[in-house]
Amino acid sequence: MTIIKQEENSLRTRLRLILLIATIVAFISSSFGQTPGKSIFFEQVKIFDGHQFSGPTNVLVEAGKIQSVGNQVKKPAGAEVIAGAGLTLLPGLIDSHVHVFSTAPLIQALALGVTTELDMFSSVKNSKSIEQDQSEGQLMNAADIRTAGTLVTAPGGHGTEYGLPIPTITSPDQAQAFVDARLAEGSDYIKVIYDDALEYGAPKAIPTLDKQTLAAVIAAAHQRGKIAVVHIGSLQQARDAIDAGADGLAHLFIGEHSDPEFGKFVAAHHAFVIPTLSVLQSICGMSKEKEALANDPHISEALTTRELENLKAVFPSRSHISLSCAGAVEAVAQLHQAHVPILAGTDAPNPGTEHGASMHGELVLLVQAGLTPAEALEAATANPAKAFRLNDRGIIAPGMRADLLLVRGDLATDIKATREIAGVWKAGVRDDRQAYLAEIKQARQEISSAPKGSENGVVSDFDDLTTKSNYGAWLTSTDSILGGKSTAKMETVAGGANNSKGSLHVTGEVAPSFQFAWSGVMFSPGRQVMSPVDLSRKKTIRFWVKGDGKTYRIMLFTEKTGPMPLTQTFTAGPEWKQFTFTIASFGGADGHGLNAVVFAAGPTPGNFEFYLDEVHIE
Ligand SMILES: [Zn+2]
Repeated sequence: MTIIKQEENSLRTRLRLILLIATIVAFISSSFGQTPGKSIFFEQVKIFDGHQFSGPTNVLVEAGKIQSVGNQVKKPAGAEVIAGAGLTLLPGLIDSHVHVFSTAPLIQALALGVTTELDMFSSVKNSKSIEQDQSEGQLMNAADIRTAGTLVTAPGGHGTEYGLPIPTITSPDQAQAFVDARLAEGSDYIKVIYDDALEYGAPKAIPTLDKQTLAAVIAAAHQRGKIAVVHIGSLQQARDAIDAGADGLAHLFIGEHSDPEFGKFVAAHHAFVIPTLSVLQSICGMSKEKEALANDPHISEALTTRELENLKAVFPSRSHISLSCAGAVEAVAQLHQAHVPILAGTDAPNPGTEHGASMHGELVLLVQAGLTPAEALEAATANPAKAFRLNDRGIIAPGMRADLLLVRGDLATDIKATREIAGVWKAGVRDDRQAYLAEIKQARQEISSAPKGSENGVVSDFDDLTTKSNYGAWLTSTDSILGGKSTAKMETVAGGANNSKGSLHVTGEVAPSFQFAWSGVMFSPGRQVMSPVDLSRKKTIRFWVKGDGKTYRIMLFTEKTGPMPLTQTFTAGPEWKQFTFTIASFGGADGHGLNAVVFAAGPTPGNFEFYLDEVHIE
């Protein structure tokens, strides 16, 4: 979505998001070697095939694909039988607008029935590495990803504010080379920004492409056989984008009204639209439906405390202006009437949206805007598969990938039945939802208890020359996950503070050209990386340090304060020195829901070196 640079509030939130994302280290095991060879026989199940409801009938899955559909299909010997009474089988849902920075949200999405996510800008290096792993059959427990990679924007335009070092474009003659460079990086499709932020309440316009450059970028994508989607802010920008040849809109616009001709106009240009009503309602403060979503136990049981908080959140308020999304709702009805392909997208994980969860809310919003349940489901299955040329999925038909969602209840009359998940399969491999939900449950219990091993206050003394800690774990932490180039290395070495046996030696380089660059080590006190614990009985953080004389940051991440770290600084001089910080001195923190303590260099670029020893939280 749009960020308005001039608004500190908004920028702060974005920074928080980035820091959160950057601190999350993928700890989740990928499911290796699961053979998609097993036969599954869905017996007498109702189906939604991507376009319409039918059945009950039989569906046979073999070797990860749908083999056959119909009452004549017989159960082969040895097949796993799933009795379909009271159930509906549909293609796995496709979210056509998300941002993905690690595998964790993809795992969450799959557990909630979303089998494919279309990323609309993140770190291209990161998403391509996930996509590569998936193409090799790994990460079967995570939704498939396709990515726009780096978006196309003007210098200082939307997309440049997150601190990711990204290239920008200024004129039509640069378009082909620019697009070719994106495709070389691995963009599966091109996303262009055409939005000066005014519609979002910015006090003054931020730079954006002119219409000629927009058209040239779209033409350049088409020249290479790729599709181009456009992020717009206003109705006029939406019309310009469609007029410039966009294949689709990545959002609908802000504003009180649509234009009565809008639906017909888009239809005449054969474009599709991803309304993203979920994020719009968060921006416009229409939160009733979202609240219902967050309070639905089928949804909340699949989210950690933090994710649930994010789902309940609204976009940072802009007190001087109240934005209307009525025009977007009106536009969905017009597009629907004009038979424009509508694609369900959420824009997760922006404030008020969550991977997987918000797709179930988006379907409700689409139905409220005038679509039938079947049409809303089509917007989350067959439509995006066709629009984004994912030819192996999105419908239930012989030869298609067995990306499937099995739900209870009557979807044809109640769209909310998508939340009553009885099973999710990706390429014929059943997702272990129970294990996932058990993990979430355990994490929630953990948040309200002190970790085992934290009793005596010692985190690590490194005297056994390992990075072992009495609880939690030490990890390196850098901006590389965001495309930054900072590096960090940690190793234990002989000799420590007070002539002790060992200490932790941390070295690395904070790379230039990254606004929020950092590099260092992180102590994560929970069972899993960044999972929160209750250390509210602890009052101080105490450690010994020596190093190259540079100033370092100690950053606390807590559930309450979210992704923006609470920061203090210390200097690592040539002699061992002890530092003691009260936890309260970090902006009044109290150790509840503590996610991590980071010791890091940056953002000033350069090499760094420090030693850490006798780390206590007591
Ligand atoms: Zn977005």
